[in-house]
Amino acid sequence: MSINQSGWRPTSPEANTGNVPASVTGNKALMLEEALIFEIGDGETTGVDFDTFGSPANAGAQGTKDSDHGPGFLRSQENKLGGLLRTAPIGLPGLSEPETVRHYTRLSRQNYGIDLGFFPLGSCTMKHNPRLNEKMARLPGFSDVHPLQPVDTVQGALEVIHQLAHWLVTLTGMTSVAMSPKAGAHGELCGILAIRAALEAKGEGARKIILVPESAHGTNPATAAFAGYSVEDIPATAEGRVDTAALKARLGPDVAGVMITNPNTCGLFERDMREISDAVHAAGGFVYCDGANFNAIVGRVRPGDLGIDAMHINLHKTFSTPHGGGGPGSGPVVFSEALTPYAPVPFVERQGDQFVLIEEENADEHHAGSFGRMVAFHGQMGMFTRALTYILSHGADGLRQVSEDAVLNANYILRSLDDTLDAPFGPSGPCMHEALFSDSGLAAGFSTIDIAKGLIDEGFHPMTMYFPLVVHGAMLVEPTETESKAALDQFIAALRSVAERAKAGDPSLKTAPHFAPRARLDETLAARKPVLVWKDPAPLAQAAE
Ligand SMILES: *Cc1c(COP(=O)(O)O)cnc(C)c1O
Repeated sequence: MSINQSGWRPTSPEANTGNVPASVTGNKALMLEEALIFEIGDGETTGVDFDTFGSPANAGAQGTKDSDHGPGFLRSQENKLGGLLRTAPIGLPGLSEPETVRHYTRLSRQNYGIDLGFFPLGSCTMKHNPRLNEKMARLPGFSDVHPLQPVDTVQGALEVIHQLAHWLVTLTGMTSVAMSPKAGAHGELCGILAIRAALEAKGEGARKIILVPESAHGTNPATAAFAGYSVEDIPATAEGRVDTAALKARLGPDVAGVMITNPNTCGLFERDMREISDAVHAAGGFVYCDGANFNAIVGRVRPGDLGIDAMHINLHKTFSTPHGGGGPGSGPVVFSEALTPYAPVPFVERQGDQFVLIEEENADEHHAGSFGRMVAFHGQMGMFTRALTYILSHGADGLRQVSEDAVLNANYILRSLDDTLDAPFGPSGPCMHEALFSDSGLAAGFSTIDIAKGLIDEGFHPMTMYFPLVVHGAMLVEPTETESKAALDQFIAALRSVAERAKAGDPSLKTAPHFAPRARLDETLAARKPVLVWKDPAPLAQAAE
């Protein structure tokens, strides 16, 4: 079906479904179709009223219009471009201002977000972003700050970083924190680089193995490999936790450390953490903990008490700063005393009543072994402001309740659905912040993807699918603490209904979603061979003068 000259796709008769005729426009009431901007825009239309070069209003530019080179083309001996003058039209589509506003508004309505509905994407902690955080982050003293401003003009911003650092260290029971890493995976790299620097300083740089349990997040082995380590898997037990005996048996002089996700990707707390840390330390290695799921234990467990040497915290998960399409991540890394000297710069320190930025690796004895920097400047200021607002507005009791409610909500989902869906680790006890189901028991030919697509028709973002790998056809549901019981009940009813259709082999589920703007896309092809350049299927002659 192609775009007509007015820039919309007339609906073909096949689009009629049952007794309901398709609309002529392809729109479905409030759900509006929208073509690509390249299909609806053209080189002639613009929302801005430029003077034509060479016109009297522009006489000072000394330009003349060159009709060989399209509209408004400047040819001037006075131009400052040397020989780099453009010789062909740029080919960008133009729209009027109202068309532009509608284009992007329509596209945004085809998307899903946490402000629209329940977003149970496991491991991602898609919780509500409190508006108070936004209000604070928008205060001009924070939002307009420039990283190269003189330090005495940004004392307030540095105080925010310093205070947030204080609370992160306090909540985790660790010694120091590097604030600059810009996401969870970036924080992992930061932690592993500090471990490497510490080992090299001890003359133990030959340790080249990082042990990673099967229940760890996928970014963990990727990080270790990226930092030049060989990754060895440690199996999981039948109840979904790391096999401590197997891990201890593998320790030795070639092992640099372990990376353990806790709570792990099965949504379970790794209970043997202290025993594992002691064994790793006795064998001369370090313990990295993936703390992206800290929201499940904040206020109740201090990783420092578990013998952890480095752990990243996802401010965009635990501390509610927006993520996904909504904002950049931020992944500060807390360190033990043993790793603190190797942490990256910069640090904010308080000296008397001044806040100073420690930016040099050898600034003082505390940072003598620093491995360098993770980023050019100081981290994500907007996210620091939001996270500190979240921490202060919740207080100690509120943060504790965050983790309790997150765990309660996940267990409510687990126990409400384990009669319909297979919950492989359900029998071994409660889960932490996310509930894990498998595709066992679905009709032949039906899998997790069919349930995910069915949930789209019910108006929900699907859960995490086929991850973690230790469970066949995994469905990982993370409700977070910000969902009400009413929202959870509605989701449970929807997932129950879709699961029952998948168990009964309802063929209409194989073609779901039926109500979404697009149905089953080849997501693998899109990821492996993305088409990033739009090509005009039937190029019109470029408009000349
Ligand atoms: C989200 C997540 C990560 C990665 O965090 P990013 O900010 O997306 O890089 C790592 N580990 C776990 C357990 C996570 O949930």
